[in-house]
Formats: sequence, C-alpha cells, structure tokens
Amino acid sequence: MRKILWITVSLLIIFVSLVEAIELQPKGKPQNFSNARIENLNPYVPGEQPTDPAIIKLNTNENPYPPSPSVQALLNGFDAERLRLYPDPVCRELREVLAELHGCKAEQILVGNGSDEVLLLAIRAFVEGDQRVGYFEPSYSLYPVLSAIEDVETYEVPLDDEFGWVDPDPRAAALFFITNPNAPTSLLHSRERIASFCAASGGVVLVDEAYGDFAREHCMDLALSCDNVLVSRTVSKSYSLAGLRLGYVVGPEPLIAALYKIKDSYNVDRLAQDIATAAIRDQTYFKETVTRIQVTRERIALALREKRFEVAPSETNFLWVRPSDRDAAGLFERLREQKILVRYFPGARTGEWLRITVGTDPEMDKLLACL
Ligand code: PMP
Repeated sequence: MRKILWITVSLLIIFVSLVEAIELQPKGKPQNFSNARIENLNPYVPGEQPTDPAIIKLNTNENPYPPSPSVQALLNGFDAERLRLYPDPVCRELREVLAELHGCKAEQILVGNGSDEVLLLAIRAFVEGDQRVGYFEPSYSLYPVLSAIEDVETYEVPLDDEFGWVDPDPRAAALFFITNPNAPTSLLHSRERIASFCAASGGVVLVDEAYGDFAREHCMDLALSCDNVLVSRTVSKSYSLAGLRLGYVVGPEPLIAALYKIKDSYNVDRLAQDIATAAIRDQTYFKETVTRIQVTRERIALALREKRFEVAPSETNFLWVRPSDRDAAGLFERLREQKILVRYFPGARTGEWLRITVGTDPEMDKLLACL
C-alpha cells in the first residue's frame, strides 16, 4: 500500500515538473533572437573615428578642407521650422542640379543616404535567388558584407600581382561592382577595359566612382549610353561632406526606376538635400579643393618614393604605400604612437601596404618628418 502511495506521489511530482518546464519554454521565439546567418556574418569594420583632437587623421579618406562656404552660409540661415515637414522623397531640386552637371535627365538619377545605400539597393534590385554579386579582390570591402546581409552568393575576381585588371567572366554575376579608381589600391582601371566588360556583361555593372573626382577619367558616359551600366558618386570625399551621408547613382531610366521602387520613402533628409545642393552648385570651390589635394598627393608620393617607399600611382585622395622592409603593421603602430592615424588592412594581398589619406600640407609634412 505504502509502495503504491510512493509511486503515485513520485509520478505526480514528475508530471508537475514536466508541465512547468513546458510552460517556461518561450513560444515561437528562438532563444538567441537572431538567425544563424546573421550570427555567422562578418560585419563591415569602418575606419576608426578617434576622439583625441591631437591625432592627425589620415585613415578614412575624408577631405581635410571644409565644405564650400555656401554650406556654412546655408546652415547659418536655416530655419528650424523647415524640419517640421517630411523632406522631398525624390530630391527633385538636387537631382535637377546633378542632371545639369552630368548632362542627363533627372529621371536618370537616384539619391541615397550615402552611396553605401545605393550599393545595397542595387543588390536588392538586381540580384535574386542563386544569382551572384561580383567584384574584384581587393576592392571595397563592403560588397561581400552587403551580399551576405542580402543572402546572395559572391563572385570574387582576384586582381593581378600589381593589383591590375583581370577579365571577369561576363556571365558570372547578375551585378558586378567595379570600384574605379580602386580602393584601397588607388589605381585606375582603364575606361576601355571597363567599357568592353560592360558590353560583354549579361548583368548590371555598377562603377563605384566614390573617388572618381580625383581621377584623370571616369565612366559617367557609359551610364548614359549603355542599358546595363550604373555609376555611383558621393559627396563624402570631393565635396568634404562625409558627415552628411549623401551619395547618388546615375544610369538608364529602367534601372533607376527599379531602385526607386525599393528605397525608403524619405531616405535623404531635408538638411542633407539642401546642403548637398549648395555644395554641388559651387563648382568653383569644388574644383579648387580637388586640385589642391591632387597637388599635395603628387608632392607626397614623390617624397615617399625618395624615402624608398613603393607608392602606387594614385588617382584618388589617398596613397597606397609599401615600406621597403614590408613591415606595414609595424609602421602603422609606430605612426600611431606619433599620433598619426593611417589605415592598415591585414591579409595576404594587402598586409604589406598602408593606405594614407591625403591631408593638408602641414599634416603631410608631419607625416614625412615622422617617416
Ligand atoms: N565606395 C567606396 C569605394 C568607398 O570607399 C566608400 C567610402 N567608404 C563608399 C563607396 C561609400 O561612400 P558614402 O560615404 O557615400 O557612403
């Protein structure tokens, strides 16, 4: 009798514990709140933004000169009341200014929250299922990250030993990004090579001209004449407006229309639209600043070569530099100790090189003195 009682009580305890355990399980929610793909994703690592004002910052390719004086004037006179309403969702006024600049229709331009947004929209619009996103290696390291976020496969084309052009398979990718001039190498791929790749390509080719304003030539005409070519630009570098977050893409109307369908309604705020419009209207200041940077770039490239550094012929606002002992990591640290911050990309292809943004003349002289 006692045995039966014991068994009944034990069974009851087990039953109650089981019910409690089931109750405690979260219903329909994974316990770690993220999916396996996101857990395994290697995010993009932006360059450091140090807080010490004594640091000479040559690590993220920002412009060392202020934006056009018309930007400051606009900010001084800006009426906060204008922020009460949503901004123009399609940046009409800015696109008119850009259309005039590039000799195209406003319908051929989409403005984004930085050109990074444009790159993401392009993957969303032009790549699906088991199609691939193509790009050169090394080039802008955001492309593989965006592809992973969008869960699409990639087609990586290694550049040659001198970081020069290698013909990609024109059928391998639904969307191929060409950074031109390239980053972090600062080298320009020839217009002819890009044009013939675009002509052969079965997919969309996006020429990322984030540094195009500092180069001898660009591919804007391809975006205006080919049905599969887009060219993206940014105000972050050549217009000294990295803090604004505004970029744009130019291309054939059907491709641009596809991007409009999927963008956020109000992706560019009112202040950013106004400021970019003012800066782009001031082409005189823009050209002066770009020329100033090009002149400093050439002077420093020469001085570095005299110090036995290998310096790639730059078409950008930065220099791609290999120290003679090839210890780029060590030099990065020593410069940092001297409060000069440059960019080091570890890895088999890039680990012997440093990327050094062109700063003001006094900043670059300090760099030379340290070296
Ligand atoms: N493309 C390249 C090659 C870049 O280096 C950058 C800046 N990191 C971008 C695009 C993005 O520029 P934005 O500031 O307009 O997003």
